[in-house]
Amino acid sequence: MSKRTALITGVTGQDGRHLTELLLQKDYEVIGVINGQRNDRAEAVKAEFPDLKLVNADLADQSSLVRVLSSVQPDEIYNLGAISFVGLSFKQPELTANVTGLGPLRLLEAMRTLGLEKTSRIYQASSSEMFGKVREVPQTETTPFHPRSPYGVAKAFAHQICVNYRESYDMFIACGILFNHEGERRGHEFVTRKISNSVAQIALGQRETFALGTLDPKRDWGYAGDYVRAMWLMLQQEHPDDFVIATGETHTVREFVEAALAAAGLPVDVERFVTIDPQFQRPAEVDLLIGDASKAREVLGWEPNVRFEELVQLMVESDIARLKR
Ligand code: NDP
Ligand code: GDP
Repeated sequence: MSKRTALITGVTGQDGRHLTELLLQKDYEVIGVINGQRNDRAEAVKAEFPDLKLVNADLADQSSLVRVLSSVQPDEIYNLGAISFVGLSFKQPELTANVTGLGPLRLLEAMRTLGLEKTSRIYQASSSEMFGKVREVPQTETTPFHPRSPYGVAKAFAHQICVNYRESYDMFIACGILFNHEGERRGHEFVTRKISNSVAQIALGQRETFALGTLDPKRDWGYAGDYVRAMWLMLQQEHPDDFVIATGETHTVREFVEAALAAAGLPVDVERFVTIDPQFQRPAEVDLLIGDASKAREVLGWEPNVRFEELVQLMVESDIARLKR
């Protein structure tokens, strides 16, 4: 039997790399979408995964998506590509709407144009940021959306258009409503990686303090390696559906800093090491996220393996080891 083929947009990102690792282990032929004229991360991802094939396309460029889908004819498509940072989405809302919001619509239309809507399955990376100013605690698949950023609004559009195409054209479209997930591959712009990297630098005597915008928001933080397993499981079901993927635990940014200081063997004194800088604050904040992943547990048999303390420790240790090298 020939190998199954998976196309991943956003292959150079955190989840793209975890998912590539998982799918190669499962003996898929994995094809990653690279965007941009000169993409430094393409070389890094190619070096990390020599069996990964790369193709050029952009979620903002319809004809490039049609060409790639036409030549790859993937069994499974994982749409992870996005402007994914809430902070940037406030500075470039139109770009965010175009890539994060309209990008998935372009992919769906490319599938229909090529007659792939009955043969290819697609995963859409939906986000807990759609819940924003939360209407319900904990959040489930049926909690109404109230996004608080251009990113959240773009993801809400993408999610709804996926549901609409599933209902209209009977396509296999699964949306994973993933809560924040982190790890050693997380981008440095996100708060967890900023903390783990800064605390590692302090532990190694490379800096004394670092600045954050606020210590109060609460997030349900899980490990990216666990979350990409859920993506794959969603595309192996008999019917497409939406699933919340979360740990069910929530912690403040302050608690993340405390756990990171403890993991590095430093005094757990947040005020000594962290200053508050308004430049890292957002025009509107998401104060609390906590997910209920009961449906994923029951239908997919999915459970997170890595819990909060272990996640923070893993990130701090990884940054210390990297900085020492
Ligand atoms: P990253 O920011 O690490 O990766 C984003 C990827 O999108 C990069 O590979 C980037 O490529 C690519 N990309 C950006 N613009 C375009 C474009 N115009 N065309 C094609 N690709 C593009 O995100 P994560 O891996 O953390 O997240 C994966 C997905 O899951 C994203 O859609 C994100 O919004 C969503 N999500 C993430 C959560 C999390 O906590 N990590 C939670 C919920 C949802 P490059 O930079 O190489 O150009
Ligand atoms: P988000 O949940 O997708 O916005 O993920 P982030 O990791 O970017 O932010 C998580 C939370 O940390 C948000 O409530 C941010 O406002 C808060 N936060 C506080 N200080 C910072 C900071 O310096 N950088 C980032 N990225 N977030 C911060």
